[in-house]
Amino acid sequence: MGFSADLHLHSRFAYACSKNLTLVNMAAWAKIKGIALLSSADFTHPAWLAELKKTLVPTEDGDFEFQDVRFVLGTEISCVYKQGGQSRRVHLLVFAPGFETVNGICEMLAGLNSKLNGDGRPTVRASARDITARLLEIDEACIVIPAHIWTPWYGILGSKYGFDAIDECFGDMTPHVPAVETGLSSDPEMNWGVPALAGKTIVSFSDAHSLPNMGRELTVFQGEAGYRGLSSGLKGNFVEQTIEFFPEEGKYHLNGHRKCGVSQTPDETCRAGNRCPQCGRPPTLGVLHRVQELSNERTPMDVEKRPYTKLAPLIEILAHTMGKGRTAKSVVAAYHHICDELGGEIQVLTQAGYGDLEQVGGEALASAVIKIRSGQVAIVPGFDGQYGTVVPAD
Ligand SMILES: [Zn+2]
Ligand SMILES: [Zn+2]
Repeated sequence: MGFSADLHLHSRFAYACSKNLTLVNMAAWAKIKGIALLSSADFTHPAWLAELKKTLVPTEDGDFEFQDVRFVLGTEISCVYKQGGQSRRVHLLVFAPGFETVNGICEMLAGLNSKLNGDGRPTVRASARDITARLLEIDEACIVIPAHIWTPWYGILGSKYGFDAIDECFGDMTPHVPAVETGLSSDPEMNWGVPALAGKTIVSFSDAHSLPNMGRELTVFQGEAGYRGLSSGLKGNFVEQTIEFFPEEGKYHLNGHRKCGVSQTPDETCRAGNRCPQCGRPPTLGVLHRVQELSNERTPMDVEKRPYTKLAPLIEILAHTMGKGRTAKSVVAAYHHICDELGGEIQVLTQAGYGDLEQVGGEALASAVIKIRSGQVAIVPGFDGQYGTVVPAD
């Protein structure tokens, strides 16, 4: 039996995140979705950390639980620094086995003048390599995973402030980085041809800034839902499958300028001489472009491939079939009814049969879910911060 995990989350103390991101609501939504293990998120924020300490219940095996949902202590740290004469910005997902370790991490960051009581994802002016070394010094059981590795602004392999390889960034710490989070705008297949990622476990999480987006991407690990299961799952690539967006739906899939309304494929950018036809400036290079730049089609890669499923959020499917917005009352009511009846959103999207779907959600919904599951979709790709759209094909 595996367990589903969403380990890139935020609390209401992270910038641009919903005020509804409380532990009570996060645990409730984990059940609506069907997620077994959540990240506590934002554990460096003093007010949130106090809530975590007060609320999360230690289990016998050293994990944490709240309202029947398992939690691990996790956060995101933004490393902003210079290396090789260039500005670098790398987001890291960091996990700690217990509160004592978390206290040590907060002290270490505060010692580096990181402001912990502002954004729940603190910024530190130190390299990703140095932060990793310091975390492992505090507790060798800490886990570090580069977050949304391809996004232009804060991905380790991103076009703006990133690197061309994981070891360029982490140096001697590279072997201590077990996995990479691929982000919404790429899927595992796009990553399998990238030599820079050889030997790293590929994981996907939601980076949700609001409750309904929890679990929009997630990873199903083999083993027990807890810190040890997670740690061995990451180090040994014990991944049963990842649940993915269609990468085109991610907001940095193609190149372009959102303000200019210009979206380009990598080929089109090349032919346009790396210029936006509207404003003449270089376009924001998206994930597909970077993946192609760093891929090597000729050298067969020694990657351990894992199955993955591409899905669209149920609320979006309902909005489409009902011809309304995703916040419309009737759409939200239908969403909760279907999730309640059929065992959670992930079950609905990945497992529920046509008959059950039709009975609970109607014919249009049933046929839309089945179409998306089998990849019969119409896609408008995202670019430069604008989400793409994926709807069932007519
Ligand atoms: Zn981030
Ligand atoms: Zn432009």
